Amino acid sequence: MPVPSPVTVRVPAKVNLHLGVGPRRPDGYHDLQTVFQALSIYDEVTAYPAPGLTVMVKGQDADEVPVDSTNLALRAAALLAERTGVDAAARIGIRKEIPVAGGMAGGSADAAAALVACDALWGTGLSRAQLAELAAELGSDVPFCLQGGCALGTGRGQVLTPVLARGSFHWVVAIAATGLSTPEVYAEIDRRRGPGAEATPPDEVLAALRLGDAKRLGAALHNDLEPAAIGLRPALRATLDAGRELGALGAMVSGSGPTCVFLARSHAAAIRIAAALTAEAVCKTTRVAEGPVPGPRVG
Ligand code: ATP
Repeated sequence: MPVPSPVTVRVPAKVNLHLGVGPRRPDGYHDLQTVFQALSIYDEVTAYPAPGLTVMVKGQDADEVPVDSTNLALRAAALLAERTGVDAAARIGIRKEIPVAGGMAGGSADAAAALVACDALWGTGLSRAQLAELAAELGSDVPFCLQGGCALGTGRGQVLTPVLARGSFHWVVAIAATGLSTPEVYAEIDRRRGPGAEATPPDEVLAALRLGDAKRLGAALHNDLEPAAIGLRPALRATLDAGRELGALGAMVSGSGPTCVFLARSHAAAIRIAAALTAEAVCKTTRVAEGPVPGPRVG
């Protein structure tokens, strides 16, 4: 038998343009009404033929990513092997660009990419719908990471409905020096408003996307988790204010934070805002990105 060639998959980060957090469910998750958009910041996941199942991580903040069986890409590969009955034999290489524990679904993106890469390496030939079922078992954000583009997420975020989105948007991503724990941010929101509060609806963000209206989208950006993230990390307020003063159309904490995102009028405006945020030292580093972009791609 010839040895199969390694398969590399590039997978984008996500941002929640709207994150409405509803009541805490008996299973511990919260009901969400969220609008996802995939952004042009990519992790690269390569599945190499090898005996056994191992992972190695390089790139930004690689030392903060576990390389044991809790690594989400490894869990994804193991689940695919178990369900299809193939030998779990691959070395998974991850090159990280997506900030770790930054509220941009880096681990979930790696899991989605590992499903696609191992499916190709092992020739398991699952359909996207079958991969999406495995994705939902791995985590709430994994189905969107497998899909990319722009989508409305309900349930715990894993039930996806396509969103009509016109045009492309320019973003500045401000990355903090240390991450925030997603469960801690959800615990903080429950503490602040009680576990039964209703989610803010996403209607205004959906209307702005339909029209491709960046100004309206900037004004509509909303994250129910933002007060909780700022409560745990008060410095985020200064980061958001700095971006607004620099002329961003909108500013918010991404997901559970601490990454902040800013919508800019143009690519040039995004570069200017990113440079000024770095100069003001209100974050560790900045990136300029565009969205929406397609989901994981082989090659
Ligand atoms: P989300 O937006 O989905 O809540 P996040 O972007 O805040 O997630 P991740 O970067 O996914 O956070 O990382 C959360 C934790 O998951 C990390 O602290 C890390 O310990 C663990 N983890 C497991 N596998 C990975 C992976 N492949 N990449 C990054 N983190 C991983």
